[in-house]
Amino acid sequence: MADTITADMIIHDVVSRYPATVKVFHGHGLPCTACAVGSRESVAQGARTHRFTPEKLDQIVKDLNAVINGEPVSVAPKKAPVGRGVPLTMANSAADRKIKQVIAIMSGKGGVGKSLVTGLLAVSLRRQGQRVGVLDGDITGPSIARMFGTKGQPTKSPNGGIEPLVSKGGIKIMSMNMFLERESDPVVWRGPMVSSAIKQFYSDVDWGELDYLLVDLPPGTSDAPMTVMQALPVDGVVIVSSPQMLATMIVMKCINMVRQLKGLIVGVVENMAYFETPNGERYEIFGPSNGTELVSMTGAPLLGHLPIDPSLTTLCDSGRVEEYYAEAYEELAGNFVNTLKIKR
Ligand code: ADP
Repeated sequence: MADTITADMIIHDVVSRYPATVKVFHGHGLPCTACAVGSRESVAQGARTHRFTPEKLDQIVKDLNAVINGEPVSVAPKKAPVGRGVPLTMANSAADRKIKQVIAIMSGKGGVGKSLVTGLLAVSLRRQGQRVGVLDGDITGPSIARMFGTKGQPTKSPNGGIEPLVSKGGIKIMSMNMFLERESDPVVWRGPMVSSAIKQFYSDVDWGELDYLLVDLPPGTSDAPMTVMQALPVDGVVIVSSPQMLATMIVMKCINMVRQLKGLIVGVVENMAYFETPNGERYEIFGPSNGTELVSMTGAPLLGHLPIDPSLTTLCDSGRVEEYYAEAYEELAGNFVNTLKIKR
């Protein structure tokens, strides 16, 4: 980052680089540094959200630059409120961060198994003793709650937040279909509504302490997954692909989208890579594996190479995904945890 702060810089980046600026933001009555979501906006966006005039924005920018150069500022620098004042990801020096990692699961198109991989990754992580939550970010096509068989509406938590539903295995879940009268009801929302629902799913839900919050993004590389990614403080992205996806360059679109958002690709999962008969013969139904190409395209490891298993569909459709066990998914979870340890 250059040593001049401009209005288009992201608040989180500014305070990460120059901690002294936190007091200036608060001195001007701009609380965004304390907000996991607001801190991902630019200084100008934060000022706009809080209805500051352009003149006041100019003054904030001037003061931010003054404080980093050791010059006097126009407001009394104010301390951030206790326990806040730094964005969630800055508080990460990790112990004091309640949700240790927010990981988005992305796929370039629907039907690749993104939701299934999200669900089964959560199951395997939970089996390892990790504290896991799943935020179903696919607001208009939610499927996570169904897969886990969690029914009913979320209630108010003792802290005044929303209590997530908890699966039989202890995975915390929040999904839009918990709020629908009938599961088949369509959700016809546009970007800003989706974005604000997602922000609420993140910040108003009482997730408690979590090692991983997995976010099942809407499929594709359009506006919808982008909206969700921008609404949350995502630490990393897992891309789910299938062998034929590479041929259509859909994976490249995913990679470009993550790069555009300056995100980190934790790894790639190749789903539906093969089918194995009871005699152990393997058939690559959707074509040969592209694992090596995926690794060189993303610069990230191949976390999993998953078979097509027809028994999965039945389990998912009857809300019993947690009863599924396969070595390939345990391996996926192990690789995922190890990769994050290295990247952290
Ligand atoms: P996406 O979230 O990418 O749209 P889903 O996870 O909903 O895709 O998967 C689409 C369908 O394919 C679901 O019925 C799911 O159970 C099934 N499916 C996905 N991956 C596998 C797999 N490896 N083996 C068997 N069925 C699978």
